Amino acid sequence: MSRFDYLIVGSGLFGATFAFFAKQQGKKVIVIDKRSHTGGNVYCEYVEGINVHKYGAHIFHTSNKMVWDFVNSFVPFNRYTNSPVANYKGKLYNLPFNMNTFYQMWGAVTPDEARAIIDEQKSDALRALQGREPANLEEQALSLVGRDIYEKLIKGYTEKQWGRSCTELPAFIIRRLPLRFVFDNNYFNDPYQGIPIGGYNKLIEGLLDGVETRTGCDFFADRSGLSSLADKIVYTGQIDEFFDFRFGHLDFRTVSFEQEIKNVPNWQGNAVVNYTEREVPYTRIIEHKHFEMFGQAVYDCPKTVISREFSTEWKPGMEPYYPVNDAKNSALYQKYKALADQEEDVIFGGRLAEYKYYDMAPVVEKVMAHFEALGN
Ligand code: FAD
Ligand code: UDP
Repeated sequence: MSRFDYLIVGSGLFGATFAFFAKQQGKKVIVIDKRSHTGGNVYCEYVEGINVHKYGAHIFHTSNKMVWDFVNSFVPFNRYTNSPVANYKGKLYNLPFNMNTFYQMWGAVTPDEARAIIDEQKSDALRALQGREPANLEEQALSLVGRDIYEKLIKGYTEKQWGRSCTELPAFIIRRLPLRFVFDNNYFNDPYQGIPIGGYNKLIEGLLDGVETRTGCDFFADRSGLSSLADKIVYTGQIDEFFDFRFGHLDFRTVSFEQEIKNVPNWQGNAVVNYTEREVPYTRIIEHKHFEMFGQAVYDCPKTVISREFSTEWKPGMEPYYPVNDAKNSALYQKYKALADQEEDVIFGGRLAEYKYYDMAPVVEKVMAHFEALGN
């Protein structure tokens, strides 16, 4: 008889949500994490009175009311609406591409005017395609939004983010680039969106309430000892690592953050400003207080914390962030997945174990579906 029903490797949103439902089912659960804290990538650090999103800006958004009610049952979420601004050579443009952007770009005042300009700009690219599908991201962008938007707001940002030329990147990355002919800067289309009031740690603490947790504990430092603690393992680390990288490493893109405290209450006036020109080395600057402070509250907190984000190629030992779902890595993942499918007592879940770019809400949804399937 093991002491626990589940050993959960990783206390990110997948592991923590799994722990919650398992505990609710009366299961005995232990959660371990190799980091010094719980929460995985949604973890926040409290600096100068501000919750700093330590592993990159996280905005919760979903169309699923059940997921929204579930996360709000642990901590109420605020009304933050993501409305990033793009800075191209000192000029500002609203995102996503909408009437505000078209006005800033061309002085277009009505939807008809904006549509006519975009149609005219797209026409060259569409003619060049001669009816075939766009073969790369550049062709896709030019035929969707035309040259001005592509060159000012897409090309430089995308090449920095992915470290490759837009002609070498797959078209699908921006296939669903939204074009809105209304004055609406809301980045997401989901009806529910926000940030936990008091930060994401409150959500994780709620999920892990009453669950035995060990931080600073790497599964691979004592694999057999830890495995013997429980009947089943829920594994949310890297799938290739679980199988000793026997087929080789799966690639990732990683992000490095340069954090700075500024001695002013309001530095850039928005949570997210993207720098879309190639020459600026970072992709964006996050000013964390704007996720949770609105109106006078911004000025009641005398300092501010910003993070510059640099996107770089991942090497073993770095934090794995974005899976690179190209043909080579997808094929490699399938080989590991075939091994995982043979592990009867291990559940592989989350961003690293499924090698999938998951937003937060789908992670919660996935765990809920698992327990629903068990008849909970
Ligand atoms: P993780 O949060 O990565 O958790 C995995 C945990 O496992 C980590 O804590 C790790 O330390 C631990 N672990 C790994 N290996 C071991 C081991 N050997 N032993 C012990 N512990 C181990 N989603 C949104 O919805 N909105 C956003 O705005 C958004 N922004 C993002 C920005 C960035 C830069 C990134 C990278 C992701 C973003 N996401 C966003 C996605 C979001 O972070 C994920 O959906 C979510 O964190 C996935 O949770 P997870 O538990 O699968 O993974
Ligand atoms: N993108 C862009 N300019 C921007 C923001 C995004 O060209 O100012 C493109 C870029 O190719 C990026 C994709 O849109 O990879 C998706 O960006 P988003 O920020 O929505 O997604 P995330 O990086 O959070 O996955």
